[in-house]
Amino acid sequence: MTSVWDTNIQFLQGVGPVRARELEKGLNIKTFGDLIHHYPFRYIDRTRFYSVREIDPDLAFIQIRGEVRDMKIIGAGSRKQRMVVLFADPTGSVDLVFFKGIRWIRDKIKLNTEYIVFGKPALFNGRINLVHPEIDLPDDQSLRGSAGLQAVYSTTESLRDKGFTQKVFSRLIAQALTRIEGHVLETLTPAMLRQLKLMPLSLALEEIHFPRNLKNLQAAQTRLKFEELFFIQLGLLKQRAVRLRAEDGLRFSTVGAAFNNCYKKLPFELTGAQKRVIKEIRADLGSGRQMNRLLQGDVGSGKTLVALLSALIAADNGYQACMMAPTEILANQHYNTVSRFLQGQDIKVGLLTGSTKASERKVLHESLQDGSLHLLIGTHALIEDTVTFKKLGFVVIDEQHRFGVEQRARLWEKTEGSPPHILVMTATPIPRTLAMTLYGDLDVSVIDELPPGRQPVQTIHYPSSRRGTVYSFLKKQITEGRQVYVVYPLIRESEKMDYENLETGYRDIAMAFPAPLYSVAVVHGQQKPEDKAFDMNMFVKGQAQILIATSVIEVGVDVPNATVMVIESAERFGLSQLHQLRGRVGRGAEKSYCILMTGNALSKEARQRLKLMCESNNGFEIAEADMRLRGPGDLEGTAQSGLAFDLHIASLARDGQILEWARMEAQKILDDDPLLDSEKNKILRFQLEILGKRRADFSKIS
Ligand code: ADP
Ligand code: MG
Repeated sequence: MTSVWDTNIQFLQGVGPVRARELEKGLNIKTFGDLIHHYPFRYIDRTRFYSVREIDPDLAFIQIRGEVRDMKIIGAGSRKQRMVVLFADPTGSVDLVFFKGIRWIRDKIKLNTEYIVFGKPALFNGRINLVHPEIDLPDDQSLRGSAGLQAVYSTTESLRDKGFTQKVFSRLIAQALTRIEGHVLETLTPAMLRQLKLMPLSLALEEIHFPRNLKNLQAAQTRLKFEELFFIQLGLLKQRAVRLRAEDGLRFSTVGAAFNNCYKKLPFELTGAQKRVIKEIRADLGSGRQMNRLLQGDVGSGKTLVALLSALIAADNGYQACMMAPTEILANQHYNTVSRFLQGQDIKVGLLTGSTKASERKVLHESLQDGSLHLLIGTHALIEDTVTFKKLGFVVIDEQHRFGVEQRARLWEKTEGSPPHILVMTATPIPRTLAMTLYGDLDVSVIDELPPGRQPVQTIHYPSSRRGTVYSFLKKQITEGRQVYVVYPLIRESEKMDYENLETGYRDIAMAFPAPLYSVAVVHGQQKPEDKAFDMNMFVKGQAQILIATSVIEVGVDVPNATVMVIESAERFGLSQLHQLRGRVGRGAEKSYCILMTGNALSKEARQRLKLMCESNNGFEIAEADMRLRGPGDLEGTAQSGLAFDLHIASLARDGQILEWARMEAQKILDDDPLLDSEKNKILRFQLEILGKRRADFSKIS
């Protein structure tokens, strides 16, 4: 169905094919609809005028009413050529500075005439400057709403240079809005609009671009954010509803010898949180419905053990299980840990990774097919390989953020008959709003307690000028029998980025920690797998005291004897990543340290991040802060895990409350009409289909 919404913007007055291409290239705006969905990213209050005396350089955008007293060109012909306009009101004067469009200013602006100037003040050589402000005549009424709150649109430098000013955006959008009048189909039901007191869509689109007043603007924002988040939640929860309605889940009703023997032999007591989560999983497994559960827990909180015990319930009911890890190192480690816990028991465990030999593979395949293998641990090879199970009943996916949503879905279809139960585990705590969006179709369990006796890791920030002090500290730790990680953001020197790198670092460390007294292992992403495994093993076995690495060691590695994590150019890493790296230490009984090394020139944001790291050991707290600081788009792993939801206006960082509200309303509607097939919910189903299609198209091209 094409509508006026899909009309190419070249048909707007003042656009045409050339400008249309520029808009597409710069902002991916192709149609009237795209343009209307290019929502303002903020608003400026143009009801208030400042007098020059009130201006201070910390103010955001302001407007002043005054007259031009003088214009002169400075640095004529040089690269720094600029036009400086002396603009005055009765309380004083400021400089308006133009680097571009000088001729236009000279031709249009008249001395001693009243103008309204609008821009961002800054201090330069002791004077207040406004660089490239807008200049209007006081009676310029060509813009709707310009007397009140004025929209500000995001744009690109290149578009700005081509004359796409804020005013031009406003004009084009005003035009597009006029053209779609009468063609705006409401996406929410009349009942929702009435009961939830939401502004109708057609009005909201007007008000978001040309707010009549603050109250209307807020109502429009709420409406549009709600809608965006609501349909994401409705889609996810509908998926969940469909799954829960299908009463074809495997029912694991017994807990038998496999589970009990392992449980009884544990060398420690489970934490309260572990017990609670196992109970939640057991309830799912016995319910007759397919489980899809996300298990969140900080590094070292004991998720692997929970996964193992749950997998043993599958064995107790005659089903096989598999556990999928994101890297070979981690799969190996899981295999070793699990084998240790299952020692002397009648449970057969296999390991399948990229480096499993063909002959071993064959044996594995046979034992999977005849059902004699109970638990298969491995990497991606598990889905990619032609593995088939006799009776697969339980799947564990570790460190989910490395797996795409699609890969998760592929497992559903891997077996015949009923789908296996799925437990997704992530050690990267993610903020609740993000979890609700990324994993909104899953049920969530949280392990929020570390095993007793763990000492919090002490985190310290050092400038790289004090590397000598840090090395002495490392020597002391090594003398006491401990091991050390040193992590670099880059493998080799880069012209573009001024960060420490592994190659130079290695030379440095090899000199400061000479053989044969010390042994240094190296792992990074560009090594051959067998080299990586060799060095990794040296460290795991305690034969190397120092492991130099890039962030490949981020995931999973467990060496309890390692007590120091040094992170070079720590400012280069995001908070979640730093936290993840820090989680490699503090796994044993000894006190552990995380040392964050940085250069001297740090941005304010980097400083905040490092400070938070030094103050907090709580993964959830750090994840929330990370999202606030960087926005969810940049969060570790979200790009890969396919946050295929295009948010135009809502923000997972700021709109948590609206998200909770939207999810609750979506759930209410589904409780009453799980498949949305009643007449009154037809428009919701219709809108979900449209959005689903758009998303599919989007993922095809990207
Ligand atoms: P995660 O996968 O959540 O990072 P692991 O399952 O690897 O954590 O557990 C970290 C370490 O803690 C492992 O050595 C594990 O054997 C141990 N562990 C797990 N649960 C407990 C517990 N309740 N008490 C003591 N140690 C535990
Ligand atoms: Mg783990």
